[in-house]
Amino acid sequence: MKAVVYDGPMQVAVKDLPLPEGRGVLVAVDACGICGTDLTIYKGAHPRAKGPLVLGHEFVGRTTEDCAEFPKGSRVTCYPLISCGECQTCLSGQPHICEVLRLYGIDTAGGMAEMVRIPASELLAVPESVSDAVAAQAEPLAVCVHAARRAGFAAGDHVAIIGAGPIGTTLAAYLRRMGAGSVALFDTNEARIAQLRDAGFDARSTASESYEAALAAQGRAGFDRVFECAGAARAVEDALRYTRVGGSVAIVSIHKGAQPVDLQLLAFRELSVIGTRVYTRADFAEAVAMLAPMAEELAGSRARPACPKRPPPCSRR
Ligand SMILES: [Zn+2]
Ligand SMILES: [Zn+2]
Repeated sequence: MKAVVYDGPMQVAVKDLPLPEGRGVLVAVDACGICGTDLTIYKGAHPRAKGPLVLGHEFVGRTTEDCAEFPKGSRVTCYPLISCGECQTCLSGQPHICEVLRLYGIDTAGGMAEMVRIPASELLAVPESVSDAVAAQAEPLAVCVHAARRAGFAAGDHVAIIGAGPIGTTLAAYLRRMGAGSVALFDTNEARIAQLRDAGFDARSTASESYEAALAAQGRAGFDRVFECAGAARAVEDALRYTRVGGSVAIVSIHKGAQPVDLQLLAFRELSVIGTRVYTRADFAEAVAMLAPMAEELAGSRARPACPKRPPPCSRR
């Protein structure tokens, strides 16, 4: 079979490999996403990934053999986390942040290949109505579902997302779907901002006056929830500055090191800064269930004019 293999820093090639052996169901892959993590691995900057490694942790395919739950030919995606089941964190009921967490496509062979072998317990059924390209996005969407849950997001919340990359944009679409009072996306890339506005999102530059204008439009002093999806020091600073008293900041991006935080602001406003990593099985299942309705809604929003009229500010705050 053909597979995309990482051999070492800046060395990735399509290779012919034997079919994967061992435990699990052989899945014929139809589509596999390329994640920011894959690019980090390619650059040789991932702390765990070691070549030779078949990449790919976000994929969709069909089972090639019968297994308990899935008859041959079932359309499936994979919950890619591998937890040890024995550490304190696993035993405390949080296996998604296992102390020695591993993933398919990062620590062991993944789905950027014609075939991948995955234990049946890690497979989830994917509806036939969703395209392969959309179905391969269940994993990044699960990151967003988890971030929203960790941040304490509730319908009606006024939200800012700093960093409109794939995760920031997917999060915006998800929170809009979940009934956010408003969602403002902030980014430094003007071309990206224009593209998002065309798609019906409230996308703005990260200049201070853009945050102030977004808040003024809502008649508010700060956002209820701010999601930092940029991985930059300035984004962390802005996230704290523009969160309302008692609001929360979720750090969704993976920072390369320590960042300065204004602890006086944090204390005086009683802000909550929340860490978030990957997703639980429940988050992943919710993401799979959201694929079809979200794909439909996004297709519809492309047809709508940019900057749709906002609903009135939420009365409960
Ligand atoms: Zn990923
Ligand atoms: Zn563990």
